[in-house]
Amino acid sequence: MKVSFKELGLVNTREMFAKAVKGGYAIPAFNFNNMEQLQAIIQAAAETKSPVILQVSKGARNYANQTLLRYMAQGAVEYAKELGWKKPQIVLHLDHGDSYELCKSCVDFGFSSVMIDASSLPYEENVKLTRKVVNYAHKYDVTVEAELGVLAGVEDEVSSAVSHYTKPEEVIDFVKKTKCDSLAISIGTSHGAYKFTPEQCTRDPQTGRLVPPPLAFDVLKAIEKKLPGFPIVLHGSSSVPQEYVDMCNQYGGQLPNAVGIPEEQLRKAAKSAVCKINIDSDSRLAMTAAVRKHLAENPSHFDPRQYLKPAREEMKKMYIHKIVNVLGSNGKAR
Ligand SMILES: [Zn+2]
Repeated sequence: MKVSFKELGLVNTREMFAKAVKGGYAIPAFNFNNMEQLQAIIQAAAETKSPVILQVSKGARNYANQTLLRYMAQGAVEYAKELGWKKPQIVLHLDHGDSYELCKSCVDFGFSSVMIDASSLPYEENVKLTRKVVNYAHKYDVTVEAELGVLAGVEDEVSSAVSHYTKPEEVIDFVKKTKCDSLAISIGTSHGAYKFTPEQCTRDPQTGRLVPPPLAFDVLKAIEKKLPGFPIVLHGSSSVPQEYVDMCNQYGGQLPNAVGIPEEQLRKAAKSAVCKINIDSDSRLAMTAAVRKHLAENPSHFDPRQYLKPAREEMKKMYIHKIVNVLGSNGKAR
């Protein structure tokens, strides 16, 4: 049976993105696979009154079961209200949909937004598949994110060894032909916790830490010029906080040379036409760091609530930090 996202209390991204582009901030898009992550996201969004995008990847659907995830998102809307957030603005979004069938099933299942990622296909095929998904999704007022250009890195089942920046000369034609609602671009962000090899980085002489190469803001600027006011999306935008990497390593982990996108670059991007910033790895790192620390310090504990509670608190702290100090979306969903 088909269900509309509107019946679930969810919203699509249309109005949210228009306001974000105008207001010079970005909406957080956080991936979730389990209850603790979802609780932390909703608590953070409710406390800061920030619109929020709950992202479900194909990997998350395989891990947690798509029916369960859908009802969890529906529950999240009610939970947000219970927390005193009168008009929660929550999007349920499919991250990296790779086929028409998958996108269609999400639309039918109550998602309010889907991504069709046909960026690995030749240009004309990307246009064709994206257009097909848009045609179906728009019938139900579901918004569609498309992608042009290829990001490097590994995310669930999406991976590429090298990145190809989005070509600004293609974006007008692509948006016109596909009628997509937002566009994910490639300007040097990358999936996962190992966004750059040490060879691609320089080293901070004081701390010895890896310093990643800067994002291609000239490409972003050129795209903005071609598509004034059009919503742009950045994937692979975790900053891989050094404190979490250090905490993991201190308590038995092995994450050598993990490196992300510096927050000041994301802050700069959020002020531009970039209106959705995807963050997944930072939540994984916060959770793992907190679990490792707790178990190392409390070897007798075996009740999952004992170590998942501090993990949830650490994630919530991280989400609030991103909303308030990096994306600037706090107070935008009162
Ligand atoms: Zn992505």
